[in-house]
Amino acid sequence: MKTYISLWPAAASLPEFPRSVAILGATGSIGASALKVMDRHRDLFTVTALAGGRNGTRLAELCATFRPPFAAVLTDAARRDFLANLPAGYSPTLLVGPEAYTELAAMDGVDIVLSSIVGAAGFEPTLAAARAGKMIGLANKESLVLGGHIIRSACHESGAVVLPVDSEHNALFQGLQGHGRDEEISRLILTASGGPFRGRSAQSLAGVTRAQALAHPNWSMGAKISIDSATLMNKGLEVIEACHLYGLPVSMVHVVVHPQSIIHSLVEYVDGSQLAHLGTPDMQVPIAHCLCFPRRVEVDVPRLDLASTGSLTFEEPDLEAFPCLRLAREAFDAGPSHPVVLNAANEVAVDAFLDGRIGFTDIAATIGAALDRHAATDVSTPETVLELDREVREKIRHSI
Ligand code: NAD
Ligand code: MG
Repeated sequence: MKTYISLWPAAASLPEFPRSVAILGATGSIGASALKVMDRHRDLFTVTALAGGRNGTRLAELCATFRPPFAAVLTDAARRDFLANLPAGYSPTLLVGPEAYTELAAMDGVDIVLSSIVGAAGFEPTLAAARAGKMIGLANKESLVLGGHIIRSACHESGAVVLPVDSEHNALFQGLQGHGRDEEISRLILTASGGPFRGRSAQSLAGVTRAQALAHPNWSMGAKISIDSATLMNKGLEVIEACHLYGLPVSMVHVVVHPQSIIHSLVEYVDGSQLAHLGTPDMQVPIAHCLCFPRRVEVDVPRLDLASTGSLTFEEPDLEAFPCLRLAREAFDAGPSHPVVLNAANEVAVDAFLDGRIGFTDIAATIGAALDRHAATDVSTPETVLELDREVREKIRHSI
């Protein structure tokens, strides 16, 4: 199997159980699901570090339960809240600031780094974990969108292994493993729920509210990814993520809308066989698959009952109403700096939408305009990636 990023590890190269885990983004939605899995299987894991962002109080609660020796927060305010809420007799080493995340990601004694920060902020810690040869459970798709090429070479140099937490990519991972050679894959098919506005026309989307956009029909997730799901940018980012993970051109990564979110994605082989991964939509399943790989463990999610599910339906994505998916495909094809621009523009626009400063359809318009203005630049190093990311954010913040 050709691997763009280090996947398909030999079992011998993976850490033994119990595995020591650092969760970057422990206070978020993925962090919560991961801790449920780890709580159920305490014999398999040691929680070594929990990092939250600005929510020191929540992080202190999690640390009180799991007692990691290390913790990290982003800001001084979060540090104060964290310290004020710790139980007596427990004082983990606390790291503060963005560097804390790269430090934890590369720390000796950590076997698995669960990269579940949201947004481009996940790039440097993910890269640090890749350089340090860690087993990485990757939820932060933005880090591959920014610099999949850089993370790949870091993995190849260090022997780090990336296991995809994103449910679609985890489904593909399962469908690809142990099946055929590279030239026998004919395409990957990512499923998309279609989000809360599936079936709506482009014109009708202009006035939708923040609350409507956040109300995802099938998945309970953080705010940014929920908006990305409503614009279909999430699926666009996932197409790029799949191209990086599986070393395929964008023309081989298709998207089909499947409103029930029961089939998580499919691999099609040259003989016409399509292998699908099905299950109840709950992130504990792909998270457990990654953290325990290659073992499978019990997970507390309702079993899928196809008879009561009744029917599974499929439709083409509407690229006119949801242009973000098209923009992402075009950005990946245009070269490595365009996805950086796409991602930065999206993050700034989504923030502005969540703050009520722009409308829903302005998100795609902002990204489209940023891509139109962009002439390809060199993004072969982390510094050039981050510099372009900063430049684009600054320009767009001024313009909205
Ligand atoms: P979330 O908003 O619920 O949590 C984000 C976490 O990141 C929090 O712990 C927050 O404190 C931390 N954080 C935010 N900004 C930070 C910064 N600048 N520095 C350090 N920490 C920071 O988000 P989520 O839904 O858990 O998503 C996390 C990532 O996983 C995203 O990249 C998302 O695309 C991906 N993902 C999420 C889901 C899901 O079901 N939630 C599914 C697939 C992939
Ligand atoms: Mg996904």
